[in-house]
Amino acid sequence: MAVTYASSRHCSGAARHKAVPASGFAAGQQEDLLPDRCSHLDLVKTDQPRSAGCEECVATGDTWAHLRLCRTCGHVGCCDDSKHRHATKHYHATRHPIITSLEPGEDWSWCYVDELAMELA
Ligand SMILES: [Zn+2]
Ligand SMILES: [Zn+2]
Ligand SMILES: [Zn+2]
Repeated sequence: MAVTYASSRHCSGAARHKAVPASGFAAGQQEDLLPDRCSHLDLVKTDQPRSAGCEECVATGDTWAHLRLCRTCGHVGCCDDSKHRHATKHYHATRHPIITSLEPGEDWSWCYVDELAMELA
């Protein structure tokens, strides 16, 4: 699978192979230790949304702003600008790491684990 990283977090390769602490660091303080490559591409299993709208919002009759597709199971959830943020909730519930925007004209993807934007081809 071809991957294009939307923006490079590091200009030099020096930080590329730093170990990432599994836990125990304060959020927001050690951003420079995040990897600049996603190691979760083997969890990209599908590009087919399994529903036309946010599954949870449709079920409850709610509305959303934008849609995100889970690339592991095809779950469709609403974005963080939406009231319920079901895409992010799906990540926390399932640990499926990678979503892709379902908005027309947008083809970016996002890895929640690495906090990395990229394009999957
Ligand atoms: Zn990743
Ligand atoms: Zn939703
Ligand atoms: Zn999923």
